[in-house]
Amino acid sequence: MTAISKLVRDNILHLKPYSCARSEYRGEASVFLDANENPMNAPYNRYPDPLQEELKKKIAGIKNVRPSQIMLGVGSDEPIDLVIRIFCEPGENNIVAIDPTYGMYQVCADINNVEYRKVLLNRDYTLDAERLLNATDGRTKLLFLCSPNNPTGNLLNRNEIRKILNGFDGIIVMDEAYIDFSSEPSWLEELDERPNMVVMQTFSKAWGLASVRCGMAFASEEITGFFNRVKYPYNINTLTQKFVAEQLDHEDRKDRWVKMLLEQRGLLVEKLGVLPFVERIYPSDANFLLVKVPDADEIYHKLVDRGVIIRNRNAISLCLGCLRITVGAAEENEILINELKQL
Ligand SMILES: *Cc1c(COP(=O)(O)O)cnc(C)c1O
Repeated sequence: MTAISKLVRDNILHLKPYSCARSEYRGEASVFLDANENPMNAPYNRYPDPLQEELKKKIAGIKNVRPSQIMLGVGSDEPIDLVIRIFCEPGENNIVAIDPTYGMYQVCADINNVEYRKVLLNRDYTLDAERLLNATDGRTKLLFLCSPNNPTGNLLNRNEIRKILNGFDGIIVMDEAYIDFSSEPSWLEELDERPNMVVMQTFSKAWGLASVRCGMAFASEEITGFFNRVKYPYNINTLTQKFVAEQLDHEDRKDRWVKMLLEQRGLLVEKLGVLPFVERIYPSDANFLLVKVPDADEIYHKLVDRGVIIRNRNAISLCLGCLRITVGAAEENEILINELKQL
């Protein structure tokens, strides 16, 4: 395997990162006159911990990784952007990704002027490792996988993923935003053996914290070291760090929500399945369903008129005629079904 330091952009490798007051000093002190903070208005007057140590300790316990293997970002969006900026030379390197998938990978690639190569999944949304590997070349630095995938909802086959992990010489990003809803274990289990894998998860879905904007990237210490050099020093504010740490004390509540949503997903499958215009409901390992209908645009707009918003995926690769429906609370799902029955 190519050494990580050989994959990193030269300017990042040689970057002298900003050294903030709070990370130069480590230890116990009672007088802080180092960061030009206002002494009044405690505790909001102090800059946050740039490495979020307390919060990472808690996450590490739950995820069974070392705190040093964690990078925290403003949603997953931040590590998605940073991983591109760390490894891809604009106008020179390229990224290979499955298609269809989450739209932010391409947006971040485009913003960074990095070629983004889409490789179609099979028609049943399964992964063909060989097709993906064939799309890579000597300039490919990153490969994006998303499992369970958005918007298709399915887990990607583990053996196919393994072929890519074993066969690609760059960095593989595994987006596991929906892993809590899935029937298979996280790739975090193999983090220690796979120095070129970055696993991304988020608090936005199962944990019910989308408004808080906190995402996680897990990787080798070498890679998290680069994330830490490139990110804004104080990217996660103190309120967020404290609040998320507190939410982590209620993992049982998250588990109950997941259980409820999986039950609701099953009910939705049953009730959607008997509607005459539903042609197909794709199997889902996530908190949403991809549903094929004859006229997705028409159903989408009719639902909007009735105050029910779903996602129209009609224009996405391999998703002709498809609607993506998030599994809501029981009452919301009932309203959706009732409105659909009246169309
Ligand atoms: C929702 C989602 C995310 C989460 O993004 P955040 O920025 O953490 O809210 C990441 N990846 C995929 C595939 C998603 O669907």
